[in-house]
Amino acid sequence: MNNLSNLTLVETVEGIKSKKFSPSEVLSSYEERIKRSKKLNCFISETLDQAKKEIKKINIGQNNLALLGAPIAVKDLFCTSNVKTTASSKILENFVPTYESTVTQKLWDQGAILIGKLNCDEFAMGSSNETSYFGNVINPYKDGKETLVPGGSSGGCASAVSANLTVATVGTDTGGSIRQPAAFTGIVGLKPTYGRCSRWGIVAFASSLDQAGPMTKDIKDSALLLEVIAGFDSKDSTSINTNSSFFFKNLSKQIKGLNVGIPKEYRVDNMPKEIDDLWSEGIKILENCGAKIHSISLPHTKYALPTYYIIAPAEASSNLARYDGVRYGHRESGRDLIEMYENTRSRGFGDEVKRRILIGTYVLSSGYYDAYYLKAQKVRNLIKKDFDDSFKKVDVILTPSTPSAAFKFGEKKDDPISMYLNDIFTVTANLAGLPALSLPIKHNSKNLPLSLQLIGRPFDEQTILNVGYAIEQEVKFKRSISDWWM
Ligand code: GLN
Repeated sequence: MNNLSNLTLVETVEGIKSKKFSPSEVLSSYEERIKRSKKLNCFISETLDQAKKEIKKINIGQNNLALLGAPIAVKDLFCTSNVKTTASSKILENFVPTYESTVTQKLWDQGAILIGKLNCDEFAMGSSNETSYFGNVINPYKDGKETLVPGGSSGGCASAVSANLTVATVGTDTGGSIRQPAAFTGIVGLKPTYGRCSRWGIVAFASSLDQAGPMTKDIKDSALLLEVIAGFDSKDSTSINTNSSFFFKNLSKQIKGLNVGIPKEYRVDNMPKEIDDLWSEGIKILENCGAKIHSISLPHTKYALPTYYIIAPAEASSNLARYDGVRYGHRESGRDLIEMYENTRSRGFGDEVKRRILIGTYVLSSGYYDAYYLKAQKVRNLIKKDFDDSFKKVDVILTPSTPSAAFKFGEKKDDPISMYLNDIFTVTANLAGLPALSLPIKHNSKNLPLSLQLIGRPFDEQTILNVGYAIEQEVKFKRSISDWWM
């Protein structure tokens, strides 16, 4: 069998458990593809040699393990014990943690094997993977001859799943970093409810917004992986102790009678026709499945992006204060302590990270704190309240995932505002702490994937997964890429 890397996570684990193929055979098929896919620049570190040793220790009899023998690469934002963790930054270029993040530990506890660490935007700040110190990641989808961005910040994750370089992965999402790259590469991305998955051991960007979540080939895989990584963790003070859920077992495409909200404020100015049409198609599909459609209003949506771009940099500026050349990673020399700090931080961080630190420090400084940061926190509450009100009437909200399909390199790089506009449909779920899922629906006239987003009530990932599952059965989306980079 040489096309094992085409299989989904669920199919892979089932095949291993029923002895159709061995974990080593699965690993070799991924190894072969990873070696021939350097052009995509998905990996910052590969751990294939270690994986080959680990795989020998797998006991095929362990049928109770949910991810038995699954080769998985993760975003290079998760600390992995004895494996370099860079956050795609020069400042952490040689940082080797002595501990393992809770989320990744849960993968290995269920029998998965680490095969590498995936490229992303520096400190997860970006929407195109163009801010990584380790270079751009390339989208396996192309526009004619032109290569495209994979989205960001989990661009390496998205391209790696889409190009079958890992069977599934975990990314992080602060304002859209799982869903937007998933949309650009034709895969499924799920940002869980804030507090559902532990943030312990994940390099922090904006602590009140960050969440880890699955990026997978389909909805079943998403449900399975979420089941594995979710759960209370006493090491994360924002982790919430809810009953564990069996997302995979409870997956059902029966959505008859479900109430779906269509927020009118998401019909933004200059929305491309293909996105508008995609949204209408999604509505029709749900109607055909027996769901009831309601127009709803989320009046504070227009403030979401500015609110996000105050709160996220404010938290980032505080979180990134720890990179001072003393405690972590890279250090530059200087004539005295202050100059050492200055040199380390000015040479260690890239431009986008510095921009965020400057904005964040500004909005937190005395005199501006009330005008910007406090105001943004108040607006954040109003945004959350809009959702609370809507969820009294509807069970799930349907929107596009992104305002466009994947774009070209350089197209938005020098214009931060147009880059930030990419997050227009995704940041609201982070601000309100809600679970949200992006799933691919179809290809546009240029053969690029277009995706829809489902937003759910807090801790109701099951409903968005079920609705996603129902849509998936209808649209039967199949990624259409040719392995041109191999
Ligand atoms: N693109 C957004 C930003 O640059 C979101 C990033 C993320 O979710 N990590 O902040």
